[in-house]
Amino acid sequence: MNATFTQASAQALTPLDSRLPRVGTTIFSTMSALAQAHGAINLGQGFPDFDGDPALVEAVHAAMRDGHNQYPPMPGTVALREAIAAKIQALSGRTYRPDSEITVTAGATQAIFTALQAIVHAGDEVIVLEPCYDSYAPNIELAGGKVVRVPLTSNSYRPDFKAIAAAITPRTRAIIVNTPHNPSATVWTAAEMQALADLLRDTQVLLISDEVYEHMVFDGHRHHSSAEFPALAERAFIVSSFGKTYHVTGWKVGFVAAPAALSVEFRKVHQFNVFTVNTPMQLGLAHYMADPRPYLGLSDFYQAKRDLFAQGLADTALRTLPCAGTYFQCVDYGAVENASHLDPVAFCEWLTREVGVAAIPISAFYATRNDAKVIRFCFAKKDETLRQALALLQKRLR
Ligand code: GLN
Repeated sequence: MNATFTQASAQALTPLDSRLPRVGTTIFSTMSALAQAHGAINLGQGFPDFDGDPALVEAVHAAMRDGHNQYPPMPGTVALREAIAAKIQALSGRTYRPDSEITVTAGATQAIFTALQAIVHAGDEVIVLEPCYDSYAPNIELAGGKVVRVPLTSNSYRPDFKAIAAAITPRTRAIIVNTPHNPSATVWTAAEMQALADLLRDTQVLLISDEVYEHMVFDGHRHHSSAEFPALAERAFIVSSFGKTYHVTGWKVGFVAAPAALSVEFRKVHQFNVFTVNTPMQLGLAHYMADPRPYLGLSDFYQAKRDLFAQGLADTALRTLPCAGTYFQCVDYGAVENASHLDPVAFCEWLTREVGVAAIPISAFYATRNDAKVIRFCFAKKDETLRQALALLQKRLR
């Protein structure tokens, strides 16, 4: 090594001017690491602790063994795009062309990032409804946009259309909507989707419709996709994730359905972002999707887990909030002896360390400080895991 060179480069390097100065490691990674460090049951980060269907795994193996191991087409394999279009058609009645309107992505995270990169110009405003998923705001900022936060109603987490209307300006490029909603577990009604359609109809505002929990809706509620509402569908990037639907969050495969004019711009970014997504999983998913029963049965599967978990929580000092969809159960800890004074982050740390159960503080879904003493549990776990967690919570949270 040349000493002069080493010295010169050390002097030249100034501290990096962060593109995301207010961002640290995500709360999901942080709480999973804490759970592991303390041997706690991890009901924090949202992922199942059980495997997907062996038939799906076998379909992926078969694709690998059959030599499908090179790059697929940039927007995704034809078979998977056709299967996605057929599913959307069957469920919402809307036709998306597989060749020009469906793109397979590396999970919903990449879909949302890429959509924002494709549509946001410097200084454009993007509306998010708080509390919201933690990637939205940094994604908007990385695209050069300005985050405009509109609160959901304070106790029931419903959209406030007066407030949304008031937030729309000539600079508003898009709004991000998530239903079923992480973290509040609310599901937008048809009337609410229609109200959004009425609000956006005469505007140039685009919609990113995050529907990753589309197949987890309980108690007879229905998921209403933006695809069902023409005034929404014509301006929407509809995003979903096979990770949620098929219990394979680690596979990171999702998709975007959007009208051709929007998909063209999406694909321009996608091709230089990831180019494409791994071939064998796409082929395995396409094969497996031919049977609708796994996704049509998912709501019943998770409703049973929600009920088991919520019934057990009734024997604790935690108060359950309504859960109409997703695999998350929010609880209010305001009545927990000796710990209700803690803020949600401190409460989750205490719960992980002292009780042995990890959760996610709701405050992580807000930019600003927020007084709600609410935390989120993930019940996408084996019944046995839920029972073990309940036993700890029942013993300690009186
Ligand atoms: N969406 C999952 C959750 O809300 C986590 C995904 C992640 O870890 N980034 O828990």
